[in-house]
Amino acid sequence: MDASTPGGTERRMPGEAGLVFNVSMLLTETLGSRRRYELESAEFRYDEGRTPVEGSVRLTHTDGAILAEAWLTLEVEEICGRCLEPFEQALMVELQEEFWPGSHPLRREPEEIPDGREGFPITDSLLDLQEALRQYVEMNRPMQPICRPDCAGAGAATAPDAAAVTESTETPVDHRWAALEELRREVR
Ligand SMILES: [Zn+2]
Repeated sequence: MDASTPGGTERRMPGEAGLVFNVSMLLTETLGSRRRYELESAEFRYDEGRTPVEGSVRLTHTDGAILAEAWLTLEVEEICGRCLEPFEQALMVELQEEFWPGSHPLRREPEEIPDGREGFPITDSLLDLQEALRQYVEMNRPMQPICRPDCAGAGAATAPDAAAVTESTETPVDHRWAALEELRREVR
């Protein structure tokens, strides 16, 4: 067993938000080898804070990389575009990304991501879904979040009052016009 990979197993690492997976063993196994994980107490970090993530993750050893597929649900905080109140927006994210080891598991020299392939790095045999998930969440967040389809907006309850205010302001406007007319007459 490789002494540089403590534990030397494919078990999911505890700690770090539950989105980190030790792939040291998987990388040494035959192509097509797979692991499937159900997330437990995983947390997603983003600008607005932390939020639980649920779902499953499948890791597959491909040619030199790990294909990560994940089916996740989480809620992120949004501000409603109508009533301007914060609310929890539920998101479903289907993630599919390749992760590349910084060095071959059996050799120690660094390895480049091949031309034409994209992906995220595997650091010290740890595959961390956090950054990939952050990008997917950003793509999936609504451009104009609405707390609920029938949200009438912040002004809804006070709309009649607003109309009344508009009407009542017409009189002062008239007064000002009158004053202006008076001024004009004086100028002439
Ligand atoms: Zn709203």
